Amino acid sequence: MSERPYRVAVIGSGPAGFYAAGELVGSADPEVEVDVIERLPTPWGLVRSGVAPDHPKIKSVSRIYERTAAHPRFRFFGNVELGRDVSHDELLARYDAVVYAVGAETDRPLRIPGADLPGVWPATKFVGWYNGHPDHRDHDFDLSVERAVVVGNGNVAVDVARMLCLERDELAATDIADHALEAMAGSSIREVVMVGRRGPVQAAFTTPELRELGELRAADVVVQPEDLLLDPHSRAHLEQGATPTTMRNIELLARYAERPAGDRPRRIVLRFLRSPVEILGDGRVEAVVLERNEIVPGEGVMMARPTGEREEVPAELVFASIGYRGVPLAGVPFDEERGVIPNDGGAVTGREREYVVGWIKRGPSGIIGTNKKDAKETVTRLLADLRSRGEAPRGAPGAETEAFLRSREPRLVTQAHWEAIDRHERGLGEPHGRERVKLTRVEELLEAGGHAREGESSSAAA
Ligand code: NAP
Repeated sequence: MSERPYRVAVIGSGPAGFYAAGELVGSADPEVEVDVIERLPTPWGLVRSGVAPDHPKIKSVSRIYERTAAHPRFRFFGNVELGRDVSHDELLARYDAVVYAVGAETDRPLRIPGADLPGVWPATKFVGWYNGHPDHRDHDFDLSVERAVVVGNGNVAVDVARMLCLERDELAATDIADHALEAMAGSSIREVVMVGRRGPVQAAFTTPELRELGELRAADVVVQPEDLLLDPHSRAHLEQGATPTTMRNIELLARYAERPAGDRPRRIVLRFLRSPVEILGDGRVEAVVLERNEIVPGEGVMMARPTGEREEVPAELVFASIGYRGVPLAGVPFDEERGVIPNDGGAVTGREREYVVGWIKRGPSGIIGTNKKDAKETVTRLLADLRSRGEAPRGAPGAETEAFLRSREPRLVTQAHWEAIDRHERGLGEPHGRERVKLTRVEELLEAGGHAREGESSSAAA
């Protein structure tokens, strides 16, 4: 075993970053010290700013990350951005290895005429907004409208549809950002139409999420029986090789289709085999043109082929929920087509000492737990490389790296600062029976952590 531990920087503190950090600090041979570097003052990535506020059980996975953060070989450095405050070369000069865990920071754009009209939004921005992500704090969603269309058939689309149908008291019990609570509690939306370009057999959402739509207090879920009439290819797939999720989804959708019309104040209408082909409006969105598709076999997948049959759905708000997309990092290879860092089992292609985990490694798929297995694969590879190289640790001592990071960002957010922010937010939530009240501006977060305002002298908590 080497005399001092190797030192690894993990860039990004979402689930993938935390699972990688957990695997690394858990290694006995070789021993590894981990610095998790995060551009926001807060950790946990999409667990804080992606998981829907009414899913507190899913969010409670953060307890696992807290345990990792308590490890003596773990450090957190927030408010430091790769590319803005530190460069790729500077990190590689100070760490034995760097692991990119930056996720997929942007959305896949909807490329149809009219997609740039006001009122058309990527769902990722709406999700960031209601979750209090500082980047999305100031979006202004006009919820004083009757109908919203959500494009996409994944779990994010389901989250958005469901969130749009919760009532004030249901929202107020969550950790939804206060600005979103006020806006959404006053929403006039009566109908949310969720549109999948392929059929129910190809839908990407999972059964628990679909079931929740049918259990909403203030919304009826509507499925047209004719939308469940399967084409021969989908029927064959269902009979021969469908996953349990698909089977359960189809059973549940059939039950929804049989439900008598309800009288709840809102409706979620699930449409299938429809692609938006144009968004219409004079100065803002007024309608979505949908084209009917049919399913045809493609290379290993069932594809949607347009039939030419079109219809107009009036709507004043459109959320495109068609997937996230990775963003390139300066100095790091990038596969433009897939939106990922090219890699072999987590080792960045053509690079030494650089690794990748999570959505920026495999694309934006899977649930939070998927990242655990993913991180294990990468870290196993990283540790094997360290062992096989047999070099003495070259990483700069911890105090030196911290001083370097602080020289670049004096208001560095350490674990102690984050814990002060966490206590503060939980304290704000407690009198209202809420898990926390989120601070949504970087300045507020830094102050709650014990940092002075920009330009004033610091009274850092750690
Ligand atoms: P997703 O599961 O990949 O779904 C994307 C959807 O967008 C698919 O229905 C896809 O249809 C559709 N789509 C893509 N391009 C389109 C286009 N040009 N026009 C129309 N539709 C298009 O992605 P996601 O919903 O963003 O979720 C990301 C990941 O996070 C998923 O793995 C998801 O399960 C996970 N997640 C989980 C939870 C949870 O566990 N509660 C919550 C949120 C997210 P095709 O299938 O035809 O391509």
